[in-house]
Amino acid sequence: MKLLFLGAPGAGKGTQCKLLAKEKNLLHLSSGDLLREAVKQGTEAGIQAKGFMDKGNLVPDEVLIAMFEEKLSRPELKNGFILDGFPRNLEQAKSLDSLLTRLDMGLTSVINLETSDEILEERITGRRVCPNKECNFVFHVKFAPPQKEGICDNCQTELVHRTDDKADVVKKRLSVYTEQTQPLIDFYRQKGLLVTVDGEAHPKEVFKSMLEKLNSPCVK
Ligand code: AMP
Repeated sequence: MKLLFLGAPGAGKGTQCKLLAKEKNLLHLSSGDLLREAVKQGTEAGIQAKGFMDKGNLVPDEVLIAMFEEKLSRPELKNGFILDGFPRNLEQAKSLDSLLTRLDMGLTSVINLETSDEILEERITGRRVCPNKECNFVFHVKFAPPQKEGICDNCQTELVHRTDDKADVVKKRLSVYTEQTQPLIDFYRQKGLLVTVDGEAHPKEVFKSMLEKLNSPCVK
């Protein structure tokens, strides 16, 4: 399966992608995680990206396109992958199309996790993430607290509150999503690839209904 996830910040893409990657044995490529790792490592891409990320803006397309060109060209990706957070605008979507054509790979489905705006802000500002790149588990102070406050249940690393998960930056990220990323829903609907999943239920319920849809013979 070669899947792509769409959904606003806070829709639950990260959580659902991790569950699905495990269930279907797919490689999960999260643009946000890759960029945060690049920032941490101080690579050229990371240095370029940081200022944009801190303000909640999109990082320039060429940085993302180069990053995904390199990732998607790896032989281990041939067996299946999940793209999470890329593409985020039409320019990136068109570049991804040409790249996949060149690599002789096509997307199986595009999952759109639907959530209303009201719940997104509360979900994001309460989010706490594990900074360990081998783990990257996501918690929420109210909806999914870790067993021990501030510590990752999975790997015991201290959890962090991402700078761009703070209230003022979240507003900006949501408006960037509406303006630049939402048009991709129609782009992929027209290609007959869109699978819409209600992202408002408990994560386990969301996962169950997503699996049902993906396993249905009507879904490409
Ligand atoms: P995320 O963790 O997916 O919410 O991404 C965090 C931040 O990384 C975003 O607010 C953007 O600044 C940047 N980012 C992630 N993916 C992309 C992308 N496809 N294009 C441009 N910027 C991105």
